[in-house]
Amino acid sequence: MNQKLPSKFLKKLRSILGKRNLLTEEEDLLSYSYDSSSLIRVPSAVALPERKEEVVEILRLAQEYKVPVISRGAGTATTGSSLAHRGGVIICFSKMNRILEFNEEERIVRVEPGVLNGELKSFLKKYGYFYPPDPASYAFSTIGGNVATGAGGPRGLKYGTTKDYVLALEVVLPGGKVLKTGASTLKCVVPYNLISLFVGSEGTLGVFTEIVLKVIPLPQKRILFVSVHKNEEEPLEIISELLRKKITPACAEFVDKTTVLALLKKGALETFKDKSFASLLYLELDGEGEALEREKNIVENFYRDLGISFKKAEEEREIENLWELRRNISPSLKLLGEKRFAEDVVVPRRFMKELLFRIRNIEKEEGLYISCFGHAGDGNFHVNILFDPADEKKALKIRERILKEVIELSGTISGEHGIGYLKRNFVNLELSPLQIEIMKKLKKVFDPDGILNPHIKIPE
Ligand SMILES: Cc1cc2nc3c(=O)[nH]c(=O)nc-3n(C[C@H](O)[C@H](O)[C@H](O)COP(=O)(O)OP(=O)(O)OC[C@H]3O[C@@H](n4cnc5c(N)ncnc54)[C@H](O)[C@@H]3O)c2cc1C
Repeated sequence: MNQKLPSKFLKKLRSILGKRNLLTEEEDLLSYSYDSSSLIRVPSAVALPERKEEVVEILRLAQEYKVPVISRGAGTATTGSSLAHRGGVIICFSKMNRILEFNEEERIVRVEPGVLNGELKSFLKKYGYFYPPDPASYAFSTIGGNVATGAGGPRGLKYGTTKDYVLALEVVLPGGKVLKTGASTLKCVVPYNLISLFVGSEGTLGVFTEIVLKVIPLPQKRILFVSVHKNEEEPLEIISELLRKKITPACAEFVDKTTVLALLKKGALETFKDKSFASLLYLELDGEGEALEREKNIVENFYRDLGISFKKAEEEREIENLWELRRNISPSLKLLGEKRFAEDVVVPRRFMKELLFRIRNIEKEEGLYISCFGHAGDGNFHVNILFDPADEKKALKIRERILKEVIELSGTISGEHGIGYLKRNFVNLELSPLQIEIMKKLKKVFDPDGILNPHIKIPE
């Protein structure tokens, strides 16, 4: 049920935004009532600012009336973090989507938060530059959302994640104060690093209105290997072995047995004649010249010595066709269960096999499919518990069991998707009471009245 806003507040909000950029009709609000979690929460109003001055005014007003403010990019979050859980105003950044500056000499780009990651990539490509963080949602998720979740992606193994590229932020705080933090330089240690606090803060500490990012030259060439394996855990051993050989693939993506089954059911494995394999490994190398050739030869020889079958693609179109199969995973999983709990856990690489083994045991014991694919190069598994509505209780129990196993293996319950609403009550499994107390105090420093994205991230 969406909470009614004071009429004076709405009137003032309308005078800031104009009629066109303030949505209050039920049918408009419904479009902002979901993200990529299964939750539905209808907001009280949606603001579509076009300029940062409007964001400042909204936050001034929200603080005065103690109205919750929920920032939203494209609403692709998987955790319910871009939803208004008990009413409030969503600020959606779809109209603040300008690339403000690209400085080739400094290798930086300054953008508004609503720029899509994919648009930024295409813009930079024209100049031979590259913004590496690549969540699988890059074509339709925003830089603001990526920064607020600390988004990662397949390229995290070689290039790191969003946290490694944010140099400076302009942040609006409750009451309309504007905080500029970081610097448009490659180095800055003056004196506390607030950037790392804001990256991954999921809209709970402040609202970004400008973001300065580091960019790098675009690698000249890439080569993709897709290998097939009879033994499910073999790809995990291969990743470790290649890293020991001092090769750092741009991506190393694992597709497990349960996910292979879903892809088979979907008819998405037509490219493979013999489909009797248990798992797949996507290994992408990038770079140029002799260095890339050397890495290619090492991988090829290594696979041949082990008798592993693989496809190799060096042309862009061929590479993209093979990645299309990887992108088919999410829709295919529906064939193994109508609903899902999607976790993005990380364990140290040395424990990946052990986690997979424990998950397979849970799958057998509980009789629900659990897929376990993802960015295995950096220990990040996307664990999806697949179930029909009647099995929801069982799925909840499985989820808690898996998260406990992850913690036992020195891992973390979220590597890139964030905590949001769905995982907030599991944070206690990972953090000590002291850590949680410090985080609650930090939240109060930035947001004393708790109006920014309340009801997410920190346990109740
Ligand atoms: C098919 C699919 C694949 C995905 N793959 C990946 C993946 O590989 N890696 C990965 O990391 N994630 C992935 N995700 C999750 C999601 O796309 C990312 O979390 C993404 O960063 C969210 O961006 P968004 O623009 O949709 O933000 P939203 O979902 O709108 O918001 C996400 C969070 O950011 C906050 N926020 C948004 N804008 C601002 C702002 N201007 N200021 C302050 N806070 C703000 C919101 O309040 C919310 O807490 C995937 C999602 C889908 C649907």
